[in-house]
Amino acid sequence: MSFMLPTATPGALTRDHRPPTIHAVCLDIDDTVIDFTGSARSALTELIGRDDMWPAWQRVTDEHSAMVVSGELDYDTMRRTRTKAFLADLGALLDDDAVAVLEDRRLAQMRQSWTLFPDARPCLDWLRAAGFMIAAVTNASAPHQRARLAAQGISRYFDVVVSAGELGVAKPDPAIFHAACAQLGVHPSETLHIGDRLDLDALAARSAGLHGVWLDRTGGDEHPDTTVPVIETLADLPELLVTDYRTPTLTSASGVPTPRR
Ligand SMILES: [Mg+2]
Repeated sequence: MSFMLPTATPGALTRDHRPPTIHAVCLDIDDTVIDFTGSARSALTELIGRDDMWPAWQRVTDEHSAMVVSGELDYDTMRRTRTKAFLADLGALLDDDAVAVLEDRRLAQMRQSWTLFPDARPCLDWLRAAGFMIAAVTNASAPHQRARLAAQGISRYFDVVVSAGELGVAKPDPAIFHAACAQLGVHPSETLHIGDRLDLDALAARSAGLHGVWLDRTGGDEHPDTTVPVIETLADLPELLVTDYRTPTLTSASGVPTPRR
C-alpha cells in the first residue's frame, strides 16, 4: 500500500507555528523497549568466555539476518549458520551438531536475561492512557518478537506488530513504516516513530513521511544529526509529544495523566 506523502516537511510545519498532529506512535523494540544488546552480549560472553567480540558478532549477524529478510534462509537455519561462521572466524571449526548445541545454549541463556528498560512500561502506559494507537515496528522475526513481547507482559499495549520477517522488507525501507500506518489506519504524517538507531529508525521514518525521533540511550552530548528530535530516555517522550506536536486525544480526553519524567 502506498500513501500520498505530505509535501511539507515537519520543519516547515514548525516554522509556520502549526505543529503536526499525531494520532499513532510506532516503536522499535530491540534496544528501544527491550534491552536486547545487554542480554545478547552476556549470552555471547557466556558462550565464548570473552567479552571483546561483540562487534564481530554483530557484523556476522547483520550479514546473515539480511538473508532471512530476503528469504534465502529461515530464522533457525540462519542462527546456526551465523554461529558456525562466527566461531570459524575465531578459529573454532565445529561440525553442525556441535554448533547446534552451542547456539541453542546461547539462545536459552539470552532468553533468560531479556529485560525491559525501566522507562518502557511507564511510557507505554502513558501512551495508552493518552489514547494513541501503538505499533511495534521491528526488523526481527515476527514469532520471536511476539514471544519476546509476551514474555515481558507488554503484548497488550500494541495494536499491531509489523516485522521485517513477515513483510519481507526491513527498516530503512519505507514500506515497513507504511505497512504499520496502513494496519493502524493512520496517515504517515500523523504518525511518530521512535527507535534507538538514527539511520534505521529516526531518519528512515522521516524519509517515509512519518515523524522520526531518535532515542539515543548512550546520552552523548554530540548528536550527529540534529534535524530529528533526540531524547535519551522514553520518559521524555510524553513531554516531546505534548510540547512539539498536536495531540488531539490528549486535549479531548479527561483523566489523562501528566507526562512522567
Ligand atoms: Mg533497535
